[in-house]
Amino acid sequence: MQLLLHICCACCLCAPLDELKKEGFVVTGLFYNPNIHPLLEFRRRIKALRVFQEKYPIKIIFNEEYGLRDFLRSVNYEGNNRCADCYTMRLDSVALYAKKHNFDAFTSTMLFSKYQDHERLKEISEKVSKEKEIKFLYRDYRHLSDHSIEIARKNMIYRQGYCGCVFSEYERYIDTTRELYKGNSPQCSEKEASSGGLRVEKGEEVCDCTR
Ligand code: SF4
Ligand code: SF4
Repeated sequence: MQLLLHICCACCLCAPLDELKKEGFVVTGLFYNPNIHPLLEFRRRIKALRVFQEKYPIKIIFNEEYGLRDFLRSVNYEGNNRCADCYTMRLDSVALYAKKHNFDAFTSTMLFSKYQDHERLKEISEKVSKEKEIKFLYRDYRHLSDHSIEIARKNMIYRQGYCGCVFSEYERYIDTTRELYKGNSPQCSEKEASSGGLRVEKGEEVCDCTR
C-alpha cells in the first residue's frame, strides 16, 4: 500500500517509521507545516528531517514555503480552537495531495505524539478522509515516543522545544526565568553566557509539543 505520511518534524517519526515498513507500507513523507514559526525554526525542522533522511532513507516531499500568513488566515488564534483549525488546515492539504497523486491512504506523525490532541486528530482525519474520498490510516504509536527520542538523541537529530506556532512558543516559555544580560557578573554561569543570557529553568526537555 502506498502511504502518504504527513511529517511535522523528525521527532515522532524515528521509531514508527520502522513499524510502518514492517507492516508493508511503502511510505512517502510530506512536509507541509505552515504552522511552524518563526522562519529559522521552520528551516531548522526541515534540516532535521534531511539529517534523518541521511540515516533512514525515506522519500519526502518538502513544501518549503514559509506559510505564516496562510496559518494566520486559517486559525482562530484568539479562540479555543486554534489546534483543531491547524490540524484541519494541514490534514486537508495532505489528503488532497494523497488523492491527487494516487496514494492509497494518508496519515500523520502528529498521531504518534503523546502531546497532541490524539482524539481530535483522529476525528478530524476521519472527517477529511470522507470529504476528500481518500482512506485514512489510523495508527497509534504514542507508546514509542521515548524510543523515538532515544533514536533522535543518538543520531543528534534536532528536537524542537515547542509545537510550532508563535503562540505555542509563547505558552511554552512564558514561565521560564529570563535574564537578558548578566554581563561579567560572577553569578552569570557559563551556560547562561553561552545561551546569550537566556536561562531556561523550566521546560528544558525538548520534543514535547505542549499546546
Ligand atoms: S514532535 Fe511535534 S512537531 Fe515533531 S513530529 Fe511530533 S508532533 Fe510533529
Ligand atoms: S500549538 Fe501546534 S497544533 Fe496548535 S495551533 Fe500551534 S502549531 Fe498548531
